[in-house]
Amino acid sequence: MSSGRDSGAEFDHPTEKCGVVGVSLADRDAAFPTYYALYALQHRGQESAGIVSHDGFQQHQHVGMGLVGDAFDEADLEGLVGEAAIGHVRYPTAGSVDKSCAQPFSVSFKGGALGLSHNGNLVNADDIRDDLAASGHAFTSDGDTEVIAHDLARNLLDDDIVSAVETTMERIHGSYSLTIMHDETVLGVRDPLGNRPLIIGELEDGYVLASESAAIDTLGGSVVRDVRPGELVVLHEDGSGFDSHQLVEASNTAHCFFEYVYFARPDSVIDEELVYEVRRELGRQLWAETGVESDVVMPVPDSGRAFASGYAEAAQNDGAGVEFAEGLMKNRYVGRTFIMPTQEAREQAVRLKLNPIKSTVEGREVTIIDDSIVRGTTSSQLVDLVREAGADAVHVRIGAPPIVAPCYMGIDMATRDELIAADKTADEIAAEIGADSLSYLSLDAITTAIGKSESDLCVGCVSGEYPYDVQDEATDRDVEHPAAGASADD
Ligand code: AMP
Repeated sequence: MSSGRDSGAEFDHPTEKCGVVGVSLADRDAAFPTYYALYALQHRGQESAGIVSHDGFQQHQHVGMGLVGDAFDEADLEGLVGEAAIGHVRYPTAGSVDKSCAQPFSVSFKGGALGLSHNGNLVNADDIRDDLAASGHAFTSDGDTEVIAHDLARNLLDDDIVSAVETTMERIHGSYSLTIMHDETVLGVRDPLGNRPLIIGELEDGYVLASESAAIDTLGGSVVRDVRPGELVVLHEDGSGFDSHQLVEASNTAHCFFEYVYFARPDSVIDEELVYEVRRELGRQLWAETGVESDVVMPVPDSGRAFASGYAEAAQNDGAGVEFAEGLMKNRYVGRTFIMPTQEAREQAVRLKLNPIKSTVEGREVTIIDDSIVRGTTSSQLVDLVREAGADAVHVRIGAPPIVAPCYMGIDMATRDELIAADKTADEIAAEIGADSLSYLSLDAITTAIGKSESDLCVGCVSGEYPYDVQDEATDRDVEHPAAGASADD
């Protein structure tokens, strides 16, 4: 579950979740391409990185804490022999923060060798863990990925991999995009509502599965298509293609809208929409709904950039004499290792990371654009900084609705009482962060820009109603936890 952890995290704002990769090649070790793909997905997790490969006889594994570049050296990669590999970058939301939770999770058992990389979060992992533990399964971590791995391993004692995955999918409930390695076969599966992205790419000598298309681009491959919600994709061991098994059909999807707003790289394509263009369109809508006259529009780097360019373009098209300029310079060397033991240090962190460009702000009315406000730490610091640099007025415009509820689907968003919008209006928040005005984008604008209806998106963090059956929370669907006891042996 989302933990609301903050100490030691970059700034005092939440962090994003995991990235997964799977590679199957004809005649070349898969570890290096997997490593490069993980590099492309680094924004999805900086806590740990790992790769599991299979050489036809046995599995090889290396996981390390920290960034991809720190977790592996050349010898580690050379030891990961085999034409099949899966990889993972992790920022944990379920499970404790140490190496026992680093992924891919791997296990060897009577039914073969199994590796698993997970992006998402199950909402019934505890029920299944209790059920499996009662029948003798020993767990080494408190994460939900191990629960999926044990459930699959048990099913594999009786079934082939396709049926085993199908049975596990009937038991687990929540958000999951998985890459799986069973012996030397690489598979990918997306939960029936398709909450997290997963995409298939073709390389010259094989196939790749990745959380985002930017990873496929990095490998010089071409995008084939997204893995469909409820679909299992099995890559051929000789790198010649893949098979598709539609294991669960659902009438609606629940794609996370926040992938488009914040998580995914702007150069990634999700469901045939280029994320950068979705964000620019959100920026245009933001001008249409909340536009305010000012001298200059400036983004919060990097999260607000695409929104601000769309906002400024729409403003200029309307004849508003507003300039678009960079007003905040980012120190790109302030990384996640920056330690912030006290609130004072956390506040200092924003100043270490961002510094105003005086010529943009001094003596001018400015509009600062960002994608979201979570706890309000970033925006209140930025408003102060820009005022100190001489701005006459500071307006804040946000390219998403207020975040009023936690995420249970794999994003570390903060707990409800930490969310600044959970119990305050926009005007109250404006007063708290010291802005002359603050406006958010409507949910309608989000659904229009993404091109999907609300019933095909997960908007739980802005509506408080979830597409999954989360304990003590409301749902906007006709969903129910599967019974944990309904197992393969029943
Ligand atoms: P906060 O300072 O808590 O209001 O967080 C808002 C800032 O964090 C914005 O600049 C967002 O771009 C960024 N942000 C939003 N969601 C997340 C997340 N899940 N992880 C990391 N940063 C985030």
